[in-house]
Amino acid sequence: MNAERVLVVGGGIAGMSFALRMRRYGWSVDLVESDPDWRVYGAGISITGPTFRAFKRLGLLEDLRKLHQQLLRQASEQPTERR
Ligand SMILES: Cc1cc2nc3c(=O)[nH]c(=O)nc-3n(C[C@H](O)[C@H](O)[C@H](O)COP(=O)(O)OP(=O)(O)OC[C@H]3O[C@@H](n4cnc5c(N)ncnc54)[C@H](O)[C@@H]3O)c2cc1C
Repeated sequence: MNAERVLVVGGGIAGMSFALRMRRYGWSVDLVESDPDWRVYGAGISITGPTFRAFKRLGLLEDLRKLHQQLLRQASEQPTERR
């Protein structure tokens, strides 16, 4: 068993991606995040080519596609607000 251990500081996309990758290489990973609620900011996310490729390499692309379909379904089921 590989006894290498790494501490990742920050649970944003970079920290989480790095942590996933290191786990795949057999490292033991500790990830710390300063925000106890792991809040997400912003309203929408644009994902472009390099990000798709990165998600694919991390093995997350299928999960991302399923989540996308789920969000589209939820959006189509919600009534549109009129002002
Ligand atoms: C309003 C807005 C909209 C955006 N929209 C898009 C978009 O549509 N598409 C896109 O690709 N990008 C978008 N971005 C950019 C994207 O959010 C950043 O490029 C990305 O989040 C950077 O990731 P990161 O992991 O490097 O940093 P961050 O997401 O900033 O994560 C760093 C994490 O480290 C934690 N941290 C910091 N210091 C410490 C510490 N000392 N100890 C422990 N934890 C710590 C922070 O709390 C944070 O959770 C947007 C940004 C903003 C602000």
